[in-house]
Amino acid sequence: MICGWRQNVSTVYLIITRRRSSDTVQPIPFDNSYTQLPARFFTRLNPTPVADPQSIRVNRELARLLGIDPDWLASPAGTAVIAGNDLPEGADPIATVYAGHQFGSYNPQLGDGRAILLGEILGSDGRRYDLQLKGSGRTPYSRGGDGRSPLGPVLREYIVSEAMYALGVPTTRALAAVTTGETVVRDTYVPGGVLARVAGSHIRIGTFQFFAAQGDEEALRRLTDYVIARHYPEAENADNPALALLQAVIANQAELVARWQLLGFIHGVMNTDNMLLSGETIDYGPCAFMDDYHPDRVFSSIDHGGRYAYRNQPGIAHWNLACLARALLPVLDEDGERAAELAQEAVDDFPGRFMAAHARGMAHKFGLSEVTDQDTALVEDFFSLLAEHQLDFTLAFRRLADLSDESGATRPVAEEFTFPDVFTGWLARWGDRLKQDPMAHGERQGIMYAANPVFIPRNHLVEEAIRAAEDAGDYAPFHRLVERTANPCVYDPADSLYALPPRAEQVVRQTFCGT
Ligand code: AMP
Ligand code: MG
Repeated sequence: MICGWRQNVSTVYLIITRRRSSDTVQPIPFDNSYTQLPARFFTRLNPTPVADPQSIRVNRELARLLGIDPDWLASPAGTAVIAGNDLPEGADPIATVYAGHQFGSYNPQLGDGRAILLGEILGSDGRRYDLQLKGSGRTPYSRGGDGRSPLGPVLREYIVSEAMYALGVPTTRALAAVTTGETVVRDTYVPGGVLARVAGSHIRIGTFQFFAAQGDEEALRRLTDYVIARHYPEAENADNPALALLQAVIANQAELVARWQLLGFIHGVMNTDNMLLSGETIDYGPCAFMDDYHPDRVFSSIDHGGRYAYRNQPGIAHWNLACLARALLPVLDEDGERAAELAQEAVDDFPGRFMAAHARGMAHKFGLSEVTDQDTALVEDFFSLLAEHQLDFTLAFRRLADLSDESGATRPVAEEFTFPDVFTGWLARWGDRLKQDPMAHGERQGIMYAANPVFIPRNHLVEEAIRAAEDAGDYAPFHRLVERTANPCVYDPADSLYALPPRAEQVVRQTFCGT
């Protein structure tokens, strides 16, 4: 009895001291809404503290957007919050539940197994953001996992998500990264880390699937209304708001996956639990940007069948959206047949929307005001030549931008990349096509440079940054890569090492899940 009493007192004491540390100022201006949904949407629990947290990096600009003082965030007090050792006032930490198709097989219950949503914040841009800690300890959804994240995946997600943001791709973002002072066991012992991730929300296709599979129509309705209010308020006024929501998500995902294709980005794990209703890219596990172009390129070590290969990404997104449509059936119409018709029509819209977005972006990459049916051969021949000669996707397009105007306004990448002689014929055809295009001469190169970045987070650079951090505690390569990829479209020869494809010994052919 006495022992139990003592334990209770110390627990209460711990809670009081945790709260008291942030009594005077509220360092993070939380404004939570997901926790107002029914209790079966999540489990309330605190992050598990770590031994010795140290700040690696804070995203000062993002902190300011969220009304968080960047200096506080980088201080021991801010670091303790990101590590899960201290709970800031206003936080209402939860792990959310969801399901999902993983590599095509349905898993009826996944959920935040190594992440905790601290709460939501209204940004100075008027948008609502989730603040989530990834690697923050076990939850009821951890299944066999330890709830932790190795440092490597934390750094990878920080680098790649922020690079995607700089490239203008809708994405979750990295607010801060910390080390834990603990090791985690994977193939070997590796240092642990926590990433503070910021997203429009963390509601996934799998969140809808979870409730649909349980036949929980009430929950589906609540979730639908919530997502409409939070992300697609215009759908509220539609005749059929749930249908308008589905259509809007399909449109956003078509745009998103087109952006990935145009950048040579391979997500690697497009399970339905890794696709957000907000239309942002999430889950930077085994992702990678292609170096040399090949449509069948796969990086993920576990993607044996190439399900999530570069060329399959649009088709997989389409399939995933069909899963969303299916989950939404009960809220689309009371009449099951009518609901199925509406869902099918909406899903059938995806290919056209994807192709339109892709063609628009492709036109900019080639310096054309539009890509028409007559351009199909020109575009396809370019990609065939790239694949046949194993040329670098990013630099090939960048070089086209250089060649579109000889005025030399921007420094060319010619020292890093020139087209081999086999391209002479193709380049002449392209030059003729440019002459017929109405795009103003002075406008073309700027459009091409914006569409054809030169500094992307190449896999070998990401790996080098992780190796330096994990093996030698040296974060300089990580910081430099984050800073370099923050301005992806302006070439600076002084940083040519960041533009170069990997040398043979640097090539990374495989990436691994962040688990
Ligand atoms: P992901 O591959 O990141 O999409 O994760 C798939 C599922 O596995 C999610 O439910 C994760 O929360 C869970 N998971 C991944 N890694 C861990 C881990 N180390 N501990 C607990 N759960 C994990
Ligand atoms: Mg995931």
